[in-house]
Amino acid sequence: MPYSADSDFETFVRELPKTETHLHMEGACPFELLQKMDPIKYAEPPAFWDDDFRYESFDQFMQWYGEYCSAFFTSAKRYGEAAEIILANCYAQGCRYVETSFHLPVILFMEDNGPAVLDAIRSAAPEGMELRIFAGMCHDDYKDAGLDLIEECLTWDGLDGIDLHGPEYTALEPWTADVWERARQAGKFTKAHAGEFMGADFVDLCLDELKVIRIEHGVRSVENLATVKRLVDEGVTLDVCPISNVKLAVDGVSSMAAHPIRQLFDAGVKVTINSDDPFFFGNSLREEYYALNQQLGFSMNELVQVARNGFDVALVSESKRAFFKGELDSFAKTL
Ligand SMILES: [Zn+2]
Repeated sequence: MPYSADSDFETFVRELPKTETHLHMEGACPFELLQKMDPIKYAEPPAFWDDDFRYESFDQFMQWYGEYCSAFFTSAKRYGEAAEIILANCYAQGCRYVETSFHLPVILFMEDNGPAVLDAIRSAAPEGMELRIFAGMCHDDYKDAGLDLIEECLTWDGLDGIDLHGPEYTALEPWTADVWERARQAGKFTKAHAGEFMGADFVDLCLDELKVIRIEHGVRSVENLATVKRLVDEGVTLDVCPISNVKLAVDGVSSMAAHPIRQLFDAGVKVTINSDDPFFFGNSLREEYYALNQQLGFSMNELVQVARNGFDVALVSESKRAFFKGELDSFAKTL
């Protein structure tokens, strides 16, 4: 646990009504389930939970992603078991609204279909939590059976949106803009990972080509002030994961104190904070709040604003949004 807080601040963070809008199901795999599946391989806590651990590259991260978690996600039932623990943990940390994604091509390797996976994840949501589920895919997944699966997922009623993830440095292919456009026409919300391993140019490209208004990470937007201005002017939200960025040694993030979320927030960019892949970073959402307070000088009121940003962009009815923000306002008055 890299960040801890005194009991007053711990209570503040736990009781602050908040959101988690950047959380990968596979990367959040509960360690206890892996241990149950293979007690020998998972006997010890993984080295990457150490505070000082840094991934050598995103390729190394991807390789371990395959090694550690692929073996677990073999059925809808397994997704349901994982979701039950992951979402209960979010709820215990004060999350009222969660957006999670699963890696769509995993479906190609299991007997269950996509709607069965969606049902399993959805039915694991605790009462009182709003859950939205996204299908994530890589830049080069639109081929062979993957192409049919991507087309098919646009018709799944239980799917709330799609997200582009995986290595950013793999070229953006021409199918993506077309699929993203048709997804929106089919009532799906669209997001994209950008500005993590590629610079501000790639953030601009995703805004231009994919017409997204939510960027996952986006922290390297700070490399171009024109991109930062654009994010503000166009009301684009960045779903930022500070501890993930530090452990993956993203350019410009040599330490938490150097994280550009302070600069982005001060420039008026709408940011949320999230845990990304807690299994691979050994982090929790509460620690993201502790880190911003301790290393980046975010006050309690500024953290209330960060939480409010999550409710601003939540995919809920206006009456539900008013309810969540009312809860947040009542809490903020007690500070
Ligand atoms: Zn992510």
